[in-house]
Amino acid sequence: MTITYEYEGALYVNLTNKCNCSCEFCLRHGKAQGSIYTQDSLWLEREPTRQEALDSFLGRDVCSYREIVFCGYGEPTYRLDDILWLVDRLKERFGEKLPPVRINTNGHANLILGRDVCPKLKGRIDTLSISLNANNAADYTALCHPVQGERAYQAMLDFAREAKAYVPHVVMTVVDKDKTPEELEESRRIAQSLGVQLRVRSYIDS
Ligand code: SF4
Repeated sequence: MTITYEYEGALYVNLTNKCNCSCEFCLRHGKAQGSIYTQDSLWLEREPTRQEALDSFLGRDVCSYREIVFCGYGEPTYRLDDILWLVDRLKERFGEKLPPVRINTNGHANLILGRDVCPKLKGRIDTLSISLNANNAADYTALCHPVQGERAYQAMLDFAREAKAYVPHVVMTVVDKDKTPEELEESRRIAQSLGVQLRVRSYIDS
């Protein structure tokens, strides 16, 4: 079972397969052969305990990485309480030497967990990378298929706006596939209105 793995100098952490979305472009669909996300080993046969995850960290030279990234296979904030516990343990152990911590998320933590988790991110998470994906709720729902339906879009925007108060770097991302320059500009405007940056990601096709 792969809990932590290296990628481009960063240490990636995989705690869950669960996700409330089913994005058309999700690498979990196995469309990107050769991608690290399509390796069978990243599909967890069961979720690791927080102690197993901590042991996986401590088996590595944690401070040698440029960043620690909680990400997929699934949506990591299903395990947010465990992520925060892990960050606290790592900070206790490594203090200022601990590399910056990022979560790659669909921005649905408050929706999934049914409570406002943003204040808990303060002092623990350095960067949030939130998938914006679309410029309105209808397009978002058609692309990402959240089980909560169209309200998931506004929940994601609200999460980004609020998280900005607690997390130093909040970035929203869009995938460039099938997007016009005007649509990308509109995404940029939305991100700006929330007080966060936009990053345009390349689509990895098969
Ligand atoms: S939110 Fe992320 S993990 Fe979930 S389906 Fe979309 S791309 Fe895949």
